[in-house]
Formats: sequence, C-alpha cells, structure tokens
Amino acid sequence: MIGNLADATLAVSGNAEWLGAGAYRDAFLINGVVYKVCLENDVPGTQANLDEWEFYPIACDIVPEGCAVPETMLYAVGPCPVIAMAYVEGTPMGECYCTPDEPHSNCLPLHIETALSTAGFFDIGYGNVVYDGTTYWVVDFQS
Ligand SMILES: [Zn+2]
Repeated sequence: MIGNLADATLAVSGNAEWLGAGAYRDAFLINGVVYKVCLENDVPGTQANLDEWEFYPIACDIVPEGCAVPETMLYAVGPCPVIAMAYVEGTPMGECYCTPDEPHSNCLPLHIETALSTAGFFDIGYGNVVYDGTTYWVVDFQS
C-alpha cells in the first residue's frame, strides 16, 4: 500500500513540498510519495480523484507493453479524497503536437502514443506520462 493518511492530511493542508499543478489538482511530494489534492474554486474538491481511483484497476489492466501505472491509493481526509501515487523520477512527456519544422522535445514515441490511446488512455498530454529511461509511466489517468 502506498502512502498514509497522515501525509494525505498534510497534503490537504498545503504545508508540503509542492510538485506541480494539473488542470484540477495540486500535487505534493511527501516522503517520496505524490499526493494529489483536487481544487474546485480554490477549495478541496473531489471529482478528479474519484475518477482516477475508479479508473485505476482498469488502467492497470489495459496498460500496454513498455508502459506502466504507478501504485495508487485513495485516502479520505474528511470530505476530501486524496490520491497517493508512487513517485516516478524521470522525464515528463506527452503526445506530440509538433509541426513538421519543430524539433521534438519530450514527445512520446509514436508507437507508445498509439499504444496508449488505443488501449484507452485518452489524455496523454504533456506531463501525464513520465519516462524513467526504461518504462513510460502513466502518472495521470483521471480522465
Ligand atoms: Zn513532437
């Protein structure tokens, strides 16, 4: 099991190392684990984390070869569901939107991009995949 309730509670308080923000969530790194806290109008929300938790077993099932899904857990901090996820050190990557004259930077290889979207990972924008040199980790699969 990844993470714990005390650190999830710390993430909700916001007094932790801020790792970054997605469209709906802040992410904190606490004791080597990523905690994601939903924000809706600047207050703790629920939906993106419930969506990600619901999709987790499916994601583990459908993830294509060469890719993986980090161990994930859900904690309830009062009314606020918090996702805990194993931290993957590596290069943030995403789907390629380059024009022909642009150099690729942090774009997923086409065969990986195709394998992921064919499998059912439809939101593989920049940062939703992290490459550790061996494996493409899908670190955001809430949609
Ligand atoms: Zn590209």
